[in-house]
Amino acid sequence: MINNKFSLGFFPTPLTELKNLSAKFPDYKIYIKRDDQTGLATGGNKTRKLEYLIQQAIDSGCDTVITAGAQQSNHCRQTAAACAIAGLECHLLLGGDQPKNYQGNLLLSSILGAKIHFTGAHRKGEDTPILTTQLEAKGKKCYVIPYGGSNLIGALGFVNAVNELKTQILQNDITLDYIFFASSSGGMQAGLTLGQLIYDLPFELIPINIDKDETNGIALEEVVLNIVNQGLKTLQINKTITLSDIKLNRNYDHDGYGNVTKNEVKAIKELASSEGILLDPVYTGRAFYGMLDMLEKKKIPLRSNVMFWHTGGFPAIFKYGNEMMKNFDEIK
Ligand SMILES: *Cc1c(COP(=O)(O)O)cnc(C)c1O
Repeated sequence: MINNKFSLGFFPTPLTELKNLSAKFPDYKIYIKRDDQTGLATGGNKTRKLEYLIQQAIDSGCDTVITAGAQQSNHCRQTAAACAIAGLECHLLLGGDQPKNYQGNLLLSSILGAKIHFTGAHRKGEDTPILTTQLEAKGKKCYVIPYGGSNLIGALGFVNAVNELKTQILQNDITLDYIFFASSSGGMQAGLTLGQLIYDLPFELIPINIDKDETNGIALEEVVLNIVNQGLKTLQINKTITLSDIKLNRNYDHDGYGNVTKNEVKAIKELASSEGILLDPVYTGRAFYGMLDMLEKKKIPLRSNVMFWHTGGFPAIFKYGNEMMKNFDEIK
């Protein structure tokens, strides 16, 4: 199961130390894992999920893929690119109305050949059944990828990523105590949690919640737990976990999904100016801000090795140019 994937990216992604930033936080050593460099149409964490999802679409004899997200969805852009590689027709259900100007991920998804349907207030795939029925009436065989690619098949990408990370840790002779990342639809968190149980790595995950709204009325912790439990059963791993084992830091999501504040801009500016690495304004900017805030306030034990898992999102920078520049002047 873990080997049944369609190659879409360049792996392993680099794991490096942020030396300049570590110098600013002398109590910590800070590493970064560069999933923004997976190589699939500007990269991102969805590449790992899509390697498994696209393989399953092909194995099921499907010719069409349907998925959903926000207009600036990185998942949808990477799905469009993956479908182009695999020769599958790609339909994207994107929230909101058709904009006058296409920017960022929306522009890239169009360039990559996806057929785009604007779904108004429905930004989490509510209209998928209707579209599936319509396409099947035309003789298409549809493979539906859930919101964010977050089911067990997608999460396998991050089970595999833990194995990749384990090899890098051993090769570089380092230890990692805390791993920060942006958690939103839960597939990455579920995969990392499963991977940790399978490969027996001692670090603590610190998932920073990005979207305070629930998907289908289910709390993110529960979404993660369900995928993990399904994985333990499917992979026949004799371990049990409960809801209290699923951690989620909700301290940085209050401004709502996709609302860029001076926090995100501050984090983006910090990493750009100290290391020349670009974060995105929706996910990684928010999660990186959370990490810096916790390090500044020494909420993490001193002398820990921490790693930020950079999950991509770069194209959205261009959509949020105005919000970024507005806040830029305020931050010195
Ligand atoms: C999708 C995404 C995430 C969150 O991953 P989930 O598996 O949906 O929780 C984080 N960062 C970026 C840039 C993303 O596109």
